[in-house]
Amino acid sequence: MVSGIIFDIKKFAIHDGPGIRTTVFFKGCPLKCWWCHNPESQNPTPQKYISGFKVNETIGRIISVKEVFKEVEKDIIYYDESGGGVTFSGGEPFMQPKFLAALLSQAKLLEINTVVDTSGYVAWKLIKSMLSYIDFFLYDLKLFDSKLHYKYIGIDNSIILGNLKKLLQLMDYRQNINIRIPIIPTITDTSENLTQIRDFLIQNNFSGKINLLPYNPLGERKYEDLGMYYKLGYIQPPSSEKMEEIRDFFLERFNQCIIGG
Ligand code: SF4
Repeated sequence: MVSGIIFDIKKFAIHDGPGIRTTVFFKGCPLKCWWCHNPESQNPTPQKYISGFKVNETIGRIISVKEVFKEVEKDIIYYDESGGGVTFSGGEPFMQPKFLAALLSQAKLLEINTVVDTSGYVAWKLIKSMLSYIDFFLYDLKLFDSKLHYKYIGIDNSIILGNLKKLLQLMDYRQNINIRIPIIPTITDTSENLTQIRDFLIQNNFSGKINLLPYNPLGERKYEDLGMYYKLGYIQPPSSEKMEEIRDFFLERFNQCIIGG
């Protein structure tokens, strides 16, 4: 049986796609967003989590597809009632392609709805090979300018934008993608960035929902505990007025845009 590395399984998730869901968090991410509030997801191997001077636990565990579904199947009744299912998140689920493909195909065998939450930084052929098993995407769009993307995230964004373009050319996904935009004051919340993102979505006939995710500084403590450096200590969360202003800006051109997951 195929196995992979995850760092959590969250039950009764209501912000990770339609309905009530079980979310499986893959460990490992090729991106290094300055604002990442799950820094424990970035390293693809299990790692020690140290609080103060005490070793508390190891983050990340190897788990088989069968073991994942032992948990996922417990809540099938809630998925059926709410239109929910299973969400594969992270980290970046496509970083463990064999594991993801095996989980997706098992979900389909059990007729469970599937969502993949992705950064989009993955070879198109991998996405394409799994499309028939993916009902819905949560897709992050952070910074449109390639140089800024490189500065704050560590890679350029051409693959991410290219993959989203290809997905939006497939009618099935125009509505079945939620675009998630983290609103990080002075970095992603500039009118230039938001206009470029909006224009890109218009040009590519996007017709799904946009989620605006306000910067959450609560992850800072985790960086310390993991022995990692947090670069955004100086930034405060955006005000609710600012979030509403951004939401209204997207609602001028799209039917669905909400603040939060
Ligand atoms: S893509 Fe997500 S998990 Fe990866 S570094 Fe960025 S915020 Fe963290």
